[in-house]
Amino acid sequence: MASAPVRVRFCPSPTGNPHVGLVRTALFNWAFARHHGGTLVFRIEDTDAARDSEESYAQLLDAMRWLGFDWDEGPEIGGPHAPYRQSQRMEIYADVARRLQERGFAYECYCTTQELDERREAARAAGKPSGYDGQCRDLSAEQIEAYKREGRTAIVRFRMPDAPITFDDLVRGELTFTPENVPDFGIVRANGAPLYTLVNPVDDALMDITHVLRGEDLLSSTPRQIALYAALAEIGVGNGSIPHFGHLPYVMGEGNKKLSKRDPQASLNLYRERGFLPEGLLNYLSLLGWSLAEDRDVFSIEEMVAAFDIGDVNANPARFDLKKCEAINAVHLRELAPDEFVRRLVPYLQAADLLPAEPTDAQLDLLTRAAPLTQERMVVLGEVVGMLGFLFVAPEDFRVDEADAAKALGPDAAPVLESSIKALESLQDYTPEPIQAVLREALVDGLGLKPKHAFTPLRVAVTGRRVSPPLFESMELLGREETLRRLRAAAERVSG
Ligand code: GLU
Ligand code: ZN
Repeated sequence: MASAPVRVRFCPSPTGNPHVGLVRTALFNWAFARHHGGTLVFRIEDTDAARDSEESYAQLLDAMRWLGFDWDEGPEIGGPHAPYRQSQRMEIYADVARRLQERGFAYECYCTTQELDERREAARAAGKPSGYDGQCRDLSAEQIEAYKREGRTAIVRFRMPDAPITFDDLVRGELTFTPENVPDFGIVRANGAPLYTLVNPVDDALMDITHVLRGEDLLSSTPRQIALYAALAEIGVGNGSIPHFGHLPYVMGEGNKKLSKRDPQASLNLYRERGFLPEGLLNYLSLLGWSLAEDRDVFSIEEMVAAFDIGDVNANPARFDLKKCEAINAVHLRELAPDEFVRRLVPYLQAADLLPAEPTDAQLDLLTRAAPLTQERMVVLGEVVGMLGFLFVAPEDFRVDEADAAKALGPDAAPVLESSIKALESLQDYTPEPIQAVLREALVDGLGLKPKHAFTPLRVAVTGRRVSPPLFESMELLGREETLRRLRAAAERVSG
């Protein structure tokens, strides 16, 4: 590894909602920085006013916090290279663009879109490379004057060197790009707005970034950025060294298609709303291109940081497997300490209006007693609403699931409900074992029912669903009065 202290950056553009590809990139950069005791720079690439939004910016910060990623320089904390929002660095880019032109590393291009299109088509038809053909590379002062008189405006183009560019990708090994595949490219729009192609490497140079870890979709911009770095060194921007690049593999979604930002399955919010734990989601996302050991899918973020080596990242596309993501989350969920599990459930019950913003001690106590009945069965925290909602719903709002009722609360449930009500009314010790004993006696011995037929109607009547936490514990938690009220309501429904 290079001797300079590691400095990496996470530099999203604030457009739309954060997606899992972005989170994977943040994770690998964060883990790399922490593994090497380096610095993570969080930079906001908000130079595209038409697409960027403050809302999206706020979501990015919120997502980073939720995931537990800290950054060493960036929004809200500042740092030696502030500001870290590119929208606040426009003079820097204008100045660099001007100096690049003065030194001949960039030039004005007056071609119209139509002209460019026509020449591209002609090149294609002739089977030649179809990128920019360098027409404006060496315009004379007279030609420029003539274009201006015509009312043309110019973009600024970077002059690519006429030699191949080779670099050693940290993931993919040595890569070479030949000049015909990397034509001169625009760095400033006709209206003066600097483009990603300029601002991203300028800031990487100014912020002394040593390693660029990012998605493979950006691989084609790397030879350009390397050439631009060399030019920046010539004009004294940055410390003159070129960062190491590592391109993280594509993530494939359904049907083996590249998972796109717009895929609903890619939205981080979806995972948060369903109740994935940050540690579960990050564990799974780390497997998209990396692994701790061949036989270990489940590990903590600390273990990942300790073991993470960018050289171990696999260049082959990774497949996003929701089932596996869920299974890994379930393991992390089971490993939570009981009180921590309760703490994490609360917001999901609140979001479903089953708990108030400030739960009472009695409500928290009930949740603390009920939670262990579900911890082993849950995949995501949001399932608490279906599993334990029956305990928190106001009596007047309790409803049985209609599909489950259709199966379990038919006419033959009437004697089951009647006998159960009688048995529970006279029970002395209303705790799970005696509850079970008297119900067995009444239904299995008394009515001669198989346990399944005996207890399913009760389960639906009391918890509202055919699948629920253990029945007798549920009855105890609910209390005798409310249990009986629900059994009577069900009996009425069945006979009425
Ligand atoms: N802002 C760029 C993006 O969102 C970052 C590219 C990079 O990592 O170099 O794609
Ligand atoms: Zn041109």
